[in-house]
Amino acid sequence: MSTRVPAAKPMFQRVALIGIGLIGSSISHACRRAGLAHEIVGSARTLATVDTAKRLGLIDEGFASASQAVRGADLVIVCVPVGLCGAIAQEIGPSLSPGAIVTDVGSVKGAIVRDMAPHLRAGVHFVPGHPIAGTEQSGPESGFAELFDGRWCILTPPPQTDAVAIEKLKTFWQALGSNVEIMTPEHHDLVLAITSHLPHLIAFNIVNTAAHLERVTDSEVIKFSAGGFRDFTRIAASDPTMWRDVFLNNKDAVLEMLGRFQEDLANLQRAIRYGEGDELYAKFADARAIRRGVIQAGQDTAAPNFGRAPAAPKAVDAVPGAPGKPDTKR
Ligand code: NAP
Repeated sequence: MSTRVPAAKPMFQRVALIGIGLIGSSISHACRRAGLAHEIVGSARTLATVDTAKRLGLIDEGFASASQAVRGADLVIVCVPVGLCGAIAQEIGPSLSPGAIVTDVGSVKGAIVRDMAPHLRAGVHFVPGHPIAGTEQSGPESGFAELFDGRWCILTPPPQTDAVAIEKLKTFWQALGSNVEIMTPEHHDLVLAITSHLPHLIAFNIVNTAAHLERVTDSEVIKFSAGGFRDFTRIAASDPTMWRDVFLNNKDAVLEMLGRFQEDLANLQRAIRYGEGDELYAKFADARAIRRGVIQAGQDTAAPNFGRAPAAPKAVDAVPGAPGKPDTKR
């Protein structure tokens, strides 16, 4: 539902979305809500996605290839898994209009700059970006206009990038509902390794560990999941292709954070083994204070249990993807 007043004059004539999944479709919804583009066009890997995007009104025109889609666009947003961004840049490079802004939404930034920049010629403004917003859903039907509201979007322009292009993209993301911060790709990758990548790795791992336990039957894992496990399963339901690419492309920062995590975990393990209650209490109290900081920063709700409705009758509770607004904690 739109809460914003559409811009009197669109910021961009033609926005091209390369990839129309959760992020691409949410950009389209938010872009339409704010009236930021005269027209939105797009391409995806499959024609089925292009057709769905047209049917949902996410794009005005769909193309079979990325190079066709970017022709005449003054803003190109690459919304595909990180590992594909280099190949997309190579494909679209010769078809980009002079003066076009090219950006992306990839969850890793150093590898994207490395893979995309060499294919974008002078006169095209490359401003990589990453909206820190998402859900565990994928595909063109999963997007919604409010996804970016109140969330952060990080831009990592290479040195010498045209200041006007950076400012224009910053204004675009603000109009989509985001707060915007600018930093280097290296700093982005270090920060996101601890705030996003490591939590996902832990979620994937804990869900698999539980699944492999021989003493706990599957039904018990599901039945008692509200004890904490359930919250990990939501994160672990995220797209495997996307996350494979994140870990392959942010290897150094993730390994650094994983090393620190393992040291801290070993300290907790030791405190449990030797019955050091004061030590455990102090560590848990510190962690609890961080949660309060997240709420004060407006990045989550203060409502108990993430504002979930009280447990629904059993049959509804068990249905994956039961109706309701998706969590947007990413
Ligand atoms: P998604 O829902 O799986 O959508 C991916 C899109 O990319 C699909 O439309 C897919 O087309 C398309 N695609 C794949 N290969 C392509 C190719 N070779 N050429 C053109 N299009 C291609 O993924 P998403 O969640 O939107 O993620 C997209 C990007 O956003 C990723 O880089 C991810 O790191 C980043 N991101 C994700 C989140 C999140 O929470 N999901 C948050 C922030 C940033 P088909 O549908 O035809 O396969």
